[in-house]
Amino acid sequence: MSPRSISLHNTLSRKVEPVEPLEPGVVTLYTCGPTVYNFAHIGNLRTFLFQDLMKRTFLAAGYQVRHCMNITDVEDKIIRDSQKGLDPAADNAARHAAMKELTDRYTKFFLDDTAALRIVEPTYIPRATAYIPQMIALVKALEERGLAYPREGSVYYRIAGLPHYGCLARLDRDGMKAGVSVDADEYERDSAQDFVLWKAARPGEPYWESPWGPGRPGWHIECSAMGIELLGERVDIHSGGVDLVFPHHENEIAQSEGCLGHQWVSTWVHGEFLLVEGEKMSKSLGNFFTLRDLMAKGVDPSTFRFTIQSNHYRKVLNFSFEGLKASENALRRIRQFRKRMEGDGSAAGEGAWKASVDPMARVEAAREAFWAAMADDLNTPEALAALFTLITDINAQDDRVALTPGERGAVLAFLDETDAIFACWPHEEEDALGAEVEALIERRRAAKAAKNWPEADAVRDRLKEMGIILEDRKDGTVGWRKA
Ligand code: AMP
Ligand code: ZN
Repeated sequence: MSPRSISLHNTLSRKVEPVEPLEPGVVTLYTCGPTVYNFAHIGNLRTFLFQDLMKRTFLAAGYQVRHCMNITDVEDKIIRDSQKGLDPAADNAARHAAMKELTDRYTKFFLDDTAALRIVEPTYIPRATAYIPQMIALVKALEERGLAYPREGSVYYRIAGLPHYGCLARLDRDGMKAGVSVDADEYERDSAQDFVLWKAARPGEPYWESPWGPGRPGWHIECSAMGIELLGERVDIHSGGVDLVFPHHENEIAQSEGCLGHQWVSTWVHGEFLLVEGEKMSKSLGNFFTLRDLMAKGVDPSTFRFTIQSNHYRKVLNFSFEGLKASENALRRIRQFRKRMEGDGSAAGEGAWKASVDPMARVEAAREAFWAAMADDLNTPEALAALFTLITDINAQDDRVALTPGERGAVLAFLDETDAIFACWPHEEEDALGAEVEALIERRRAAKAAKNWPEADAVRDRLKEMGIILEDRKDGTVGWRKA
């Protein structure tokens, strides 16, 4: 079966377009990875989660995905933090060792976070420092093509030399300051200038030897070199947060296309930012969180994952603890429904509902609506609405008797299919809690039937202590949720 067609918003064209991989059935994906000098914050993690959702959507739609996510392990902030406290007389080897010690530590923390969030491991996770020869070769190639020039041991990209410089960020060429060079990796779009490809070593910094003397790569050249080396000269999708459109991705295009002489990436996909309680996260505002901070407050990683995935990736997400509560309830609804579908039930395959509606047709309609939404630029709010419609419909019926095991199997298959993308439904601890709560509910039912009121009250108090709220269902059984 050929894979489903998936459309994404392409920042290059500013339109939602079908993704047509160069090699049919195989998507190549490059995502700019973390700068490893500190813990990733929940804003960074939003971007990595949306990229995971995008990748899982292609996988579930029937594609293979060759995914490269780099680790930026040499960069200004890393050097600043790793060289603090070093003996001023430390040699280059000691400076490199200090840098590696810092980046190894935070790479591990980052990979722990992504594992806790059930992010699928990329095919390649290259560290920038392992690709210095490729970066030097790329800068040399740009120099040979007249697109780069050396100055005082550094090398700069000549933006006037590339007619389509500014195509991604849609820069006004008249406003560019050609011939003026900038050493910083990050700057505003109104100061588009000749940017740095290779930085001359300053005293007290780790360096590599190069044709221009001792130095280190600029941030932008890292991704071009690793991307071309590992995914080839044409890439289907390249992605990052919106802040990377300019200058990072604009400069990656300039470097790669200036060297290759043809288009490098077909589709550029950018995710919007996460704000906390309406504000940009900052340590001074006290609204700066890592995944560990949330977990210390008792937040389950799957609840955070669902909060991110249930919002559309191109909308600013206003993170709040209220929002997490809503996600917890939504997830509980899905999990309990899944448990009920797994249960034996009496499965008579009869019921008032059966005569008028075919459950198999309902599952199929939900599947179609789900995929139509996901294929339309990963519209997760609509895709989840299709799932919840199915849950509401089936829950509204006395499903245990109305659904045959075959029908429940079809519902479960649909839940698995959606979980291949959302990666949140099964949950061991919650399932264990569910088993305990259900045993207590059964004890209470039996006590009431035997008119053993003290026992029934004791069970009710125990459930209350656990923060469980009981709900009577139409079919006479008792449901529950956490307060
Ligand atoms: P960095 O580790 O700083 O290179 O950033 C890693 C990723 O996080 C990049 O794709 C950024 O665009 C993204 N990012 C940074 N801040 C936020 C935020 N507040 N919300 C969403 N994504 C962000
Ligand atoms: Zn990058």
